[in-house]
Amino acid sequence: MDKPQEECGVLGLWAETPLDVAGLLHLGLLALQHRGQEAAGMAVTDGKEFLVEKDLGLVNQVFTEERLLRLRLPQARLGIAHTRYSTTGSNLRMNAQPLTARTAHGVLAIAHNGNFVNAKPLRDRLLQEGATFQSTSDTEVMLLLLARLGHLPLPEAAAEAMKALEGGYSILLMDRKTLLALRDPHGVRPLVIGKAPWGYAFASEPPALEILGARYLRDVRPGEVVWVEAGELRSRQVLPPNPTPCAFEWIYFARPDSLLDGQEAYQARVRMGEELFREAPAEADIVVPVPDSGIGAAVGYARASGLPLEYGLYKNPYAGRTFIQPTQELRDLKTRLKLSPTSAVRGKRVVLIDDSIVRGTTSRRIVGMLKEAGAKEVHFRVSSPPIRFPCYYGIDTAARKELIAAEKSVEEIRAYIGADSLAFLSEEGVRRAIGGPVCLACFNGRYPAGVPQEGEKLILEMG
Ligand code: SF4
Repeated sequence: MDKPQEECGVLGLWAETPLDVAGLLHLGLLALQHRGQEAAGMAVTDGKEFLVEKDLGLVNQVFTEERLLRLRLPQARLGIAHTRYSTTGSNLRMNAQPLTARTAHGVLAIAHNGNFVNAKPLRDRLLQEGATFQSTSDTEVMLLLLARLGHLPLPEAAAEAMKALEGGYSILLMDRKTLLALRDPHGVRPLVIGKAPWGYAFASEPPALEILGARYLRDVRPGEVVWVEAGELRSRQVLPPNPTPCAFEWIYFARPDSLLDGQEAYQARVRMGEELFREAPAEADIVVPVPDSGIGAAVGYARASGLPLEYGLYKNPYAGRTFIQPTQELRDLKTRLKLSPTSAVRGKRVVLIDDSIVRGTTSRRIVGMLKEAGAKEVHFRVSSPPIRFPCYYGIDTAARKELIAAEKSVEEIRAYIGADSLAFLSEEGVRRAIGGPVCLACFNGRYPAGVPQEGEKLILEMG
């Protein structure tokens, strides 16, 4: 892993008339594949039958024709879907979502993006009270909280459960009739509402709504629960909103065409590039993005500097994801397989733009590659601040000891990656580019939505 990894994407729809729910969710989930590549799942109901299919793998590997046929209920009107990333070694099938449980509310299915920082104490309390858990996922804590609130209507039970949960989360929840969407009071993870001719849809990002034929209506507000019941969209502000959405959604995770909390990721990236030039200009001939992560910021940097933007690195779209990295030699070859320089860099002073540096190993290989290809100088510019702290809200930024900026100064990182100069965008620059308050905890260690208790093993599992 050489980039922080998004943990999950969620998607759900409620239709007034029967629809190919499984087929639509399958297509929509493909639009969210970038948010998680290790497991996918779906729950579909026609009001009577309640079907769930999930497994490890990419969306198209999990949803074979055979599986989709099994999910195809002729009278289906409601379903949720999930795509998941998990840290190495914890890629367990039992943690694939949606998770389901039989409760006093009937069968419930839940799909979750984010992380509860108080999952461990809640889980311990539930265990002491006699609950049993089937997975190591913190999502199950939410299910069991709901199960204990079976005397309340589901939206009220969800609101009560929200009051007990801390952290950053976006959740989709369904029974046989109702679809609910919940977002934590800080709005750390994105969640949007869409209106379609046939009903309503919810998704982590707007492009998935468009695939379903739904028009973006608005974001679920921080601290809000929204639900669709009998064709009506209803809402309740459960907790006072205190928005600090994840800056990394705009820096890297979200699709460039995603509009999140009113700001398109691509335009925010371009502005980060412009800010980066203002803060850290370089004497150079060309601007080269690291594809695909550096493209938006490189466009902004080139625009602000007046330097030409060049296609200096080719990204092989067929390299796919490679997991086995047993030797240094193979790791180097893996970078070679994914990226190779073009003649555009020969004899040139290059400003190389990327969105972040995690371990520094890939950045070092890319700088080496450009120099071998004849670049005269490589000035590395990064459109986010140095990552120094772990994320507790559903992003795998790697362990702190693996983060190069946790231990090394900017000058030491520059020397390690072999660049002629190195600069990162400031926190202020990121804020200005996004245009509102955001979570920057992995850069500054100030966690807006709480941290796990001291000594607590955070990862039950992230969702
Ligand atoms: Fe996003 Fe970093 Fe905050 Fe995690 S700590 S939510 S990755 S900004």
